[in-house]
Amino acid sequence: MAIISCPSCKERVSNKSKSCPHCDFDFESGKSTDGLNEEQLANQEKLANLKKRYSLQMQAMAGIILFLFGFIMWYFVGKQGLSKLTHFIEIGLAVLGGVWYIITRIRLMAYKRSQK
Ligand SMILES: [Zn+2]
Repeated sequence: MAIISCPSCKERVSNKSKSCPHCDFDFESGKSTDGLNEEQLANQEKLANLKKRYSLQMQAMAGIILFLFGFIMWYFVGKQGLSKLTHFIEIGLAVLGGVWYIITRIRLMAYKRSQK
């Protein structure tokens, strides 16, 4: 028994198995279960990865902008003694943006790790 790497997901698999236990890639026909060939599958995967990563990066960016916006509002406007509600909203925005950013960064990191 030899260990080969799956042409679709690059995981290590035994050459005795008929299909990849990780991604269901069918070694015998060289096709995945949904009928795409290796190249199409790789391209599709690459594109999906790019889109996913891009969307996460955009979300992280939106988080930063929200955070900065809330913080700047709080810093410049809040100090002029506006109502408590305004103050609350500004801090809320900054906290929301910060938390959103951190969560997105963690998701992005986990995502990158899962991709290898
Ligand atoms: Zn596979």
